[in-house]
Amino acid sequence: MPDGRDGSFDGPTEKCGVVGASLADRDAARPLYYSLYALQHRGQESAGIVTHDGFQQHSHVEMGLVGDAFDTDDVDGLAGSAGIGHVRYPTAGSVDESCAQPFTVSFKSGSLALSHNGNLVNSEEIREELAGLGHAFTSDGDTEVIAHDLARNLLESDLVRAVKRTMSRIHGSYSLAIMHDDTVLGVRDPAGNRPLCIGTVEDGYVVASESAAIDTIDGELVRDVRPGELVVLHPDGEGFDSYQLVERDRPAHCFFEHVYFARPDSVIDGNLVYEVRRELGRNLWEESGIDTDVVMPVPDSGRAFASGYAEAAQDNGAGVEFAEGLMKNRYVGRTFIMPTQDERERAVRLKLNPIKSTVEGKTVTLIDDSIVRGTTSTQLVQLLKDCGAEAVHMRIGAPPIVAPCYLGIDMATREELIASDKSVEEIGDAIDADSLAYLSREAVADALGADRGDLCMGCVTGEYPYEIDGEETDREVSRPVIDGGSSAGADD
Ligand code: AMP
Repeated sequence: MPDGRDGSFDGPTEKCGVVGASLADRDAARPLYYSLYALQHRGQESAGIVTHDGFQQHSHVEMGLVGDAFDTDDVDGLAGSAGIGHVRYPTAGSVDESCAQPFTVSFKSGSLALSHNGNLVNSEEIREELAGLGHAFTSDGDTEVIAHDLARNLLESDLVRAVKRTMSRIHGSYSLAIMHDDTVLGVRDPAGNRPLCIGTVEDGYVVASESAAIDTIDGELVRDVRPGELVVLHPDGEGFDSYQLVERDRPAHCFFEHVYFARPDSVIDGNLVYEVRRELGRNLWEESGIDTDVVMPVPDSGRAFASGYAEAAQDNGAGVEFAEGLMKNRYVGRTFIMPTQDERERAVRLKLNPIKSTVEGKTVTLIDDSIVRGTTSTQLVQLLKDCGAEAVHMRIGAPPIVAPCYLGIDMATREELIASDKSVEEIGDAIDADSLAYLSREAVADALGADRGDLCMGCVTGEYPYEIDGEETDREVSRPVIDGGSSAGADD
């Protein structure tokens, strides 16, 4: 079991993008390939697609970005109108081909392919049990555990019952695109922790982590897959069936998807991420607005927040100017994946360069979505002061991150998190800001139009919606409650 209390948690976090498509009579590989491009921000370590042509699977899975993992022949070689795809997020120390997905298994009653976004909290238990029953594992990831458990259940029951049984055994976050022979399924965990949605294209249906992937292939978002729901796409592309397999007492949607991870142009659980971020920015002004000459985003993560903040400031009569004072070199990768602190610091400087005229002699409010280790904000406050800023006030569009994420976001260990053992005032001093303020948890729930209790805020409260060894839970019923088992027919 993972335990981050001592800062040692280094388990596989699967912060990934998944997609699946079932089309009438054209190959699914190309639309899947385009939609993986749209989900590239969710994972840059590996990319893969597995299709099924009615007789057999075809698979191409490689390390690297989508554009590097596939060439035209690779995509053209993936025959079949059904398929699933995956992009995997890099986690320090586990750049490992055995974890690249989709994961495939062949067994007596057919073939399975599985793409997973999320993180199970009891995969070790199930792995040991299945290993005792003779299952051989090739990776240390939890996706393989789901695949084996499902394959085992499929030997004894039909597809829907088998998925239901597996869902009753696995705990944690999971949004899955699954292909059983040529049938594509989407499954979302009972708390709806990670996003998953369903969309329609001219000749079929798709499931995807984010709606931006559906837009990219000229499709239309139908709706979010509901927490605890299984959707089964018809192999002829004509429709899908919905089965509410597990009811849970409350959802636990990850608020951080909206704050940082998802694309601003995606709609998640009914909210356009861009609008949520602007609203978070407006709330930030309401809670801790300060009059300065300029309001400036940390690109790109702080942009929507800063525009909402500046708008609220102007609405309230503050004479602030909204300015882009930091220019981003878009060819530098995310600082987060730099293995050492020294490299992380260098990367911030490589990535962002100030425009002196917007800063010199001015008081500045610098806005970002979050502070993790504090590297970015420390460097940027220094940079703006070196450029002649008279004062730099930092405003953050989320509450302080005080604890690790066990449910799919690679967030650093507790030890590395600057807010895990410092007050806001101490952090302000550490990053040398003239003032620092974060957004309250209530303001986050307000911007999401959600009840605070329907969100997973483990990283900012240290209390999780699942039972995790050594950690607190904020739920009375932290394991899924399984319902009696009737399945609904097709719906919207
Ligand atoms: P840090 O420099 O460690 O404080 O990280 C803060 C910066 O990283 C902010 O600009 C965030 O937008 C970004 N960030 C926040 N969470 C993550 C994450 N899980 N992975 C990568 N970057 C992140």
